[in-house]
Amino acid sequence: MKVFKFGGASVKDAAGVRNLVLVLEKVGFKETLIVVSAMGKTTNALEAIIETYFKNKKQTPKGTLALKQFHLDVVKDLFREESGEVETAIHQLFEELIAFFNTNKSPDYSFVYDQVVSYGELLSTTIIHHFIQKKKIDSFWLDARNCIKTDDYYRSANLNWELTLNKINQQIGKNSLIITQGFIGSNSNNFTTTLGREGSDYTAAIFAYALNAESVTIWKDVSGVLNGDPRVFKKTQLLNQISYREAIELAFYGASVIHPKTLQPLQRKEIPLYVKSFENPKEKGTAVSKGKTLEPHIPCYMVKKDQVLLRLSSIDFSFIVEENISYIFGLLHEYQMPVELIQNSAISFSVCINNKYQRLEELVLVLRSKFNVLVTPSVDLYTIRHFDLKASQFIKQIGKPILLEQRTQETAQFVL
Ligand code: ASP
Ligand code: MG
Repeated sequence: MKVFKFGGASVKDAAGVRNLVLVLEKVGFKETLIVVSAMGKTTNALEAIIETYFKNKKQTPKGTLALKQFHLDVVKDLFREESGEVETAIHQLFEELIAFFNTNKSPDYSFVYDQVVSYGELLSTTIIHHFIQKKKIDSFWLDARNCIKTDDYYRSANLNWELTLNKINQQIGKNSLIITQGFIGSNSNNFTTTLGREGSDYTAAIFAYALNAESVTIWKDVSGVLNGDPRVFKKTQLLNQISYREAIELAFYGASVIHPKTLQPLQRKEIPLYVKSFENPKEKGTAVSKGKTLEPHIPCYMVKKDQVLLRLSSIDFSFIVEENISYIFGLLHEYQMPVELIQNSAISFSVCINNKYQRLEELVLVLRSKFNVLVTPSVDLYTIRHFDLKASQFIKQIGKPILLEQRTQETAQFVL
């Protein structure tokens, strides 16, 4: 089988959905499983809805109706007079969602988040599945939650591999076109969980691994993997070939084209990953596979904006050693702060973190009981793989003070 993944940008509107079918027609869809994200900015819209809900649980959160209308408009555009059945399905999904808001008793933000945000993918796949059928292509709509089994770590759930592999192999037969949701799964109580923002690539890799797929293709609005995000860096170049290892490094440091967890399962079975343009599906794009580290071999630029730099030092001038460090890491894990960079000396410990869930204040409060803490918010973390002279000039040209710098043979990082 082949696995295709279509992200939110590729299906942001009716034209995107039409193009998805065009891509299928151009490249073929025999024995193909397609994993789809929520349309456009739907996940962000749902996140805003959840915030509103937590501020006032008495009303249907503002934004819900607008999001429904957005999906109904897409349906109207795609199906015209024949939109009845799909419209009913959309109405049903929103009724379910509103019923959840009305009956939910859980104060757990992350739990509620997953129950709600998953509707983005349920909506998109419902619309796309119907549209594929309208084009007289046979497709099967699979609820990914019946396959992707996880623990209870809401918003960033960990996969139960064994169970998931069993479920996928029980439920998926060959020979057909299957459409399913990225990003979502379920725990042992069958509550919905999610794999973390941008997790749909990971879903595609999980299915590919379970099905021993011949390849995974991620369809993007760029021509492939570039050596820097074109929205941030000028004069970027296409990378033709990247080894798994290099791609894992790039994803880890923030190359946003591939979700970091995606590559490990593919590497284990040497399943090639192609990143291609949904506008030019016949072009080669980028292959992530066994082989050359990087072709062409050029520096790759990544940036994570709006990070937080914490500098901790001991209150009593004692060393910061294993015990303190493990305590600090315990807290970072507890407060769900991804760690981007660390550096330590005898009495100080610096860590660049991502205040992903807005829990920085809580964390700093706890840390201050044991350490002096200096917080520098809104820093940018630049990472350059295959650093060279030109790259070092690039960092200087940004013209912001370098707060922290770290280099290894292949990687240079700067907190600005
Ligand atoms: N819809 C989810 C998100 O926007 C998952 C994904 O796009 O991969 O984060
Ligand atoms: Mg998305």
